[in-house]
Amino acid sequence: GATAGGTTKDAKVPTVILTIGMAGSGKTTFLQRLNSHLRTQKHVPYVLNLDPAVNKLPFGANIDIRDTIDYKQVMKDYTLGPNGAILTSLNLFTTKFDQVLEFVDKRAAELDYVIVDTPGQIEIFTWSASGAIITDSLAATYPTVLAYIIDTPRTAGPATFMSNMLYACSILYKTKLPFILVFNKTDVTPHDFAVEWMSDFEAFQRALMQDTSYMSSLMNSMSLVLDEFYENLNYCGLSAVTGAGFDDFMAQVAKARDEYYAEY
Ligand code: GDP
Ligand code: MG
Repeated sequence: GATAGGTTKDAKVPTVILTIGMAGSGKTTFLQRLNSHLRTQKHVPYVLNLDPAVNKLPFGANIDIRDTIDYKQVMKDYTLGPNGAILTSLNLFTTKFDQVLEFVDKRAAELDYVIVDTPGQIEIFTWSASGAIITDSLAATYPTVLAYIIDTPRTAGPATFMSNMLYACSILYKTKLPFILVFNKTDVTPHDFAVEWMSDFEAFQRALMQDTSYMSSLMNSMSLVLDEFYENLNYCGLSAVTGAGFDDFMAQVAKARDEYYAEY
């Protein structure tokens, strides 16, 4: 394995689970539930919080960006709005990310997972140089899996579903990392419709035609692109609130990781 610090092949190598997703999709709640799920299963997680603007973190973080960066102060110092301050905070933190990796590396032999929460607004992490540097340096050190959290109730319309899938698709092609679509909030809306749309192209087209006539030919072409995206995709449905579906999620993590990182 390509681990830092000369770890031998037999030593434990933690798997990184990097949580991304639209604002309000449930990343932080998911990480809280994942943290307690792993602990119940006697797996040792190391927890990183990369959201400088979260008010109250519902889990204990081993490393918290808020310990070193005061986002409100960054707003004042650089005269920035909230999003600019979050991005600048992430940039400032990224300059010290080698130290974060050293902390993780010191504990790596006893860790099973490194779980990471990211800022609320997805593009701050997925479309910034800092987000790319953090993602790449984690992935260069440990097997890393992306958990793309989806707000299932809010993506139940065919047009929003397709936009969300296209976004997921763009991140997959950008990072080229193993990827799991996580349909969250299944306690509110089960993800059966999504499974049907991902596996049955014609069922999705029927839904699309009922939903909208506007730009329908463009939508049809795009849904063809997605059909290929779904082919080798890992997905699962769960509820970060009730905890249902987390065993399946962990199975998907193992599968995605093992398919991708055959050497581990
Ligand atoms: P983040 O912005 O992606 O970190 O999202 P949060 O974790 O802050 O969650 C946003 C909102 O969705 C909060 O009100 C959560 O309580 C709610 N939420 C998160 N996961 C679930 C879930 O599985 N079921 C339900 N019903 N609500 C959820
Ligand atoms: Mg959050």
